[in-house]
Amino acid sequence: MDCRMSTSGETEIHQLFTTLGLELPSATSTRDTIVTEDPSSGAALARVPLDDLASAQAKVAAACDAFTRLRLEPGPARGDLVRKFGARLRAHKDALARIVCAEVGKGIEEARGEVQEMIDICDYAVGLSRTLGGRTMLSERPGHRMFEQWLPLGPVLCISAFNFPVAVWSWNAAIALVCGDPVIWKPSLKAPLCAIATHGLLQPVLAQAGFGDAMQLITGADDPVATALVDDPRLPLVSATGSCAMGRAVAPRVAARLGRSLLELGGNNAIIVDATADLDLAARAIVFGAAGTAGQRCTTTRRLFVARSIESPLRQRLVAAYQQLQARIGDPRDPQTLVGPLIDRDAQSRFREMIAEIQRHGGELLVGGAAVDRPGYFVQPTLVRAPDHATFPPIDQETFAPILYIRSFEDDDLGRALAWNNGVEQGLSSALFSDSVRAVERFWSPAGSDCGIANVNLGTSGAEIGGAFGGEKATGGGREAGSDAWKSYMRRQTCTINGSRALPLAQGIRWD
Ligand code: NAD
Repeated sequence: MDCRMSTSGETEIHQLFTTLGLELPSATSTRDTIVTEDPSSGAALARVPLDDLASAQAKVAAACDAFTRLRLEPGPARGDLVRKFGARLRAHKDALARIVCAEVGKGIEEARGEVQEMIDICDYAVGLSRTLGGRTMLSERPGHRMFEQWLPLGPVLCISAFNFPVAVWSWNAAIALVCGDPVIWKPSLKAPLCAIATHGLLQPVLAQAGFGDAMQLITGADDPVATALVDDPRLPLVSATGSCAMGRAVAPRVAARLGRSLLELGGNNAIIVDATADLDLAARAIVFGAAGTAGQRCTTTRRLFVARSIESPLRQRLVAAYQQLQARIGDPRDPQTLVGPLIDRDAQSRFREMIAEIQRHGGELLVGGAAVDRPGYFVQPTLVRAPDHATFPPIDQETFAPILYIRSFEDDDLGRALAWNNGVEQGLSSALFSDSVRAVERFWSPAGSDCGIANVNLGTSGAEIGGAFGGEKATGGGREAGSDAWKSYMRRQTCTINGSRALPLAQGIRWD
C-alpha cells in the first residue's frame, strides 16, 4: 500500500485508544497485516494484524461454546449486558466518534450521530429483553392449548460495510445478544480500527459476566476467511451489509447450506417533488440526503424527480446550495466541514470514471464534477441534469459518491415519477415531497413506491432505530433494528399441550 506512516495519524489513533482504555493490536511476525489509512490525507493510521483460517476457526468454536451458556441465561440478564455496553458507549461517545471520523472520513457531527445510533439500539434492545414474546392460539381440540415461543438461534455471522463501521454491527449485536445469540463480526478491512475499538468497549462487560467468548471479531480477507465463515453450517444466520455484488456472492453460498441470510445491500434512492411541495423543506432535505456523508450512505439520495412547473426554482436553489457546499469540503474533524473525503483512491477513481460516463451519455454538469486537488480522496458534490426522455445508464447505478441526477416530469404525471422511482434494481429508500393528500396516498399505495422505506416530506436518509430498516429487490429484503426485526435472530417453536385424557386428532380425523 502506497502510504507513508504518519506520525500525527498514528499518534491521534494511539491517544484515542488510550482514552478508551484500550491498546492497539500489535503486529506479530507470524500474522499478515494491513495498513489502515486516513482518507482525508492518505496517511497511514495503524498496522492491523489479520486473522487467518486457523484463528478464524478457533473464534467460531469459542462462539459456539458460548452459545451453549448464553442461550440459558435469562433474557433480562442478557439485556443487562446490553445496558452496560450502552453505558460504556455513552461514556466514550466522543472518542469512538473520533476514530470513525479518522478512519472512514465521516464528518465528526455525523460520526457522533453514528455512535448515538449505537446507544439508541442498546436502549431499544434492553426494553426488548423484557418484552420479547410469542402468541397464544386457540386450539380446535378440546383440552388443548397452543402457543409459540421464540428461542435463541445460534451464533450469528455479521459482515459489515465500511460506511457505517460501528452502527450496523450494533444493530445486529444488541438485538442478537438479547435474543441469546453470540455474534462473530467480520468488519470491512477499510475500517478495522472502528471494529477493534468497539469490540474492546464491549469486551469487559461480557468478560465480567462470564461471557468473554460470546462476541468474536475476525479481521480477515474475503477469500478465504470470510468465504469460509459464510459456508460454515455452525452459523445459522449470516447478516451481511454491503454492495449488491457482495450479496450476490454471499446469498447463494448460504442458501446452498440452507442457512438464513439477512441482506442489507445497495440502494439507488430517489426523491419525488410534486408541484404542491414546500420547496424550502425539499431543498434542505435533498442537499443533506445527496451530499451528506459524501454520498456514501446506502440511503443517499441519488435521483431527483421534479414536477415541471417547479423544476426551475428548485434547481436554482440546489445550484446555489451546491455552490456553497464546495467551500465546506475539508477535514472531517472540523465541525465546519460539511463534505469529507471518499473512503479511498479506488472510490475517487470510480467517481472520475462516472463523470466521464455522464458526459458521454449527454448528462449536463450543473455544479461540481471534479476530484478536489488536495491530499486525500475528496470530490466535489455534483449536480447533474439527466435527459428527461432518453435512456441514461449512469442514473441506474449506485455510484458511492455525492452525485445527484435531476429529471423532470409533467405536473399531472406522478405515475411517471413513480415508474422512475421503481425502475432500478434496488428498492431501499424513497421520499415524496408533497402537500397533496392524494399524491401521498398514491405514493404509499400498492402501486406506489416499491422500496422498504417510503418517507413523506423528509429525505431518504437518516432512519431511526425504532423502525425495521432495509429494502426490497436487489437491496436484499432484510430488515434490521426495530419493529419485529428481532425475529430473524430467533427460532420459532409452535407448542401444543394436551391437558385432557382423550387424544382427539386435528381436522376431526378418526383413526382408532
Ligand atoms: P462491499 O460489498 O465492498 O463490502 C461489504 C462487506 O462485505 C465487507 O466486510 C467485505 O469485506 C465483505 N465482502 C465482500 N465480498 C465478500 C464475499 N464474497 N464474501 C464474504 N464477505 C464479502 O461494500 P462496502 O464498499 O464496504 O459498502 C458500501 C456498500 O454497502 C454500498 O453498496 C451500500 O449501499 C451498501 N450498504 C448497505 C446498507 C444497508 O443497510 N442496506 C448499509 C450500509 C452500506
